[in-house]
Amino acid sequence: MNVIKSLEHILLPYDYIVVGAGITGCTIAALLTGAGFFGIHKNKRVLVIEKREDVGGNCTDEVDYNTNVMVHQYGAHIFRTSDEEVWKFVNEFGKMHPFVHKVLANYKGELYSFPINFMTVSKISDCVYTPEEMKEWIGARKTLPKENPNLEEHCTSMIGKRLYEMFIKGYTKKQWGKDPSELPASIIKRIPIRYTANDSYFGDDKIYQGIPQEGYTNMMEKMLRNCDIIFDCDFLKNKEKIETLCKNKIIYTGAIDEFFGVEGQLEWRSLRFVEEERREEYFQPTPVVNYTSEDVPYTRIIEHKHFMPWRETKGTYITKEFPWDWEPGRDKFYPVPTEDNLEKVRNLMSRVPENYIFAGRLAEYKYYDMDVAILNAAKIASQLE
Ligand code: UDP
Repeated sequence: MNVIKSLEHILLPYDYIVVGAGITGCTIAALLTGAGFFGIHKNKRVLVIEKREDVGGNCTDEVDYNTNVMVHQYGAHIFRTSDEEVWKFVNEFGKMHPFVHKVLANYKGELYSFPINFMTVSKISDCVYTPEEMKEWIGARKTLPKENPNLEEHCTSMIGKRLYEMFIKGYTKKQWGKDPSELPASIIKRIPIRYTANDSYFGDDKIYQGIPQEGYTNMMEKMLRNCDIIFDCDFLKNKEKIETLCKNKIIYTGAIDEFFGVEGQLEWRSLRFVEEERREEYFQPTPVVNYTSEDVPYTRIIEHKHFMPWRETKGTYITKEFPWDWEPGRDKFYPVPTEDNLEKVRNLMSRVPENYIFAGRLAEYKYYDMDVAILNAAKIASQLE
């Protein structure tokens, strides 16, 4: 990774320019410059433009020097995929340490096994001792399925009203700032429901799960090893100058509404993190505890040291995650996929200039997981000449 001080230091134009050093930008830049294999062999000159001072986007992590805990700066990131090629690809940039993510739910002060599984229902019901009995218990409480259900209708038809109200309703309202009846069911389909005691957080298709041994920032810096990069550079403020430095396409991974100067037209959900160093060895039994009732203002507490149990640490480090609306000056985390927002995005997408490719969660306004972002990025890189 060759850091360039400013745009003024550039003499020769680049084959491609990538805007944003998050997972999408880093994957495209890696594949265009021959760092990393995906059945793609290219040897292009690529410049990466990054607004922040480090690589990693919202996957960025950093060691807290008092505790020696590796802290996920923008919320917990656990890499998982069902795609062997994606798994091989990330492993090229440092070893992925095997990790199975576990989460507990705290509802009104009680801890429950989560995602909803045999142990959750067995604790609530007093009369469920086998998976079959769990099926019967839920079956007696489920509502009838609807066509094109919203998030609430989808959940109550899967798990009934009581489980929905304990574990989904309050959390979802806090997370999205909307009533679940106004949200699409797609948001929650990633969370499994199991009739066994398996409490792995991610779906059973995610057969590869891990944490990069040296952290995400380190992994993504390696992805950019053959690139030039400028930090602290706001692409949109320097757009005209940067366009003259690019021979082919600019791959833009910033927010779509910002690009078109209509920032605020689309809704985004943002997060506020409140961090704390602590003296005890562990604060909570799992890496993440979700606070599912509405009366607690945060949605979850992350205890980062669980992600790297092999690291020597002194005390521990936790982060409380408070969702809030996006407004200028706040980071954008989640697109809000209501029909109205999606219609606006389709309109903006039809105006993307010829010499640009829009890719990733912010530019496409899609709620991508890291592995899907990598797959899409690899597809884009393979199509570029
Ligand atoms: N969710 C919930 N209760 C929980 C955890 C998740 O209702 O305890 C819902 C919520 O709507 C959330 C969605 O499931 O937005 C996806 O959760 P996940 O943990 O996968 O979200 P992310 O880590 O991407 O924020």
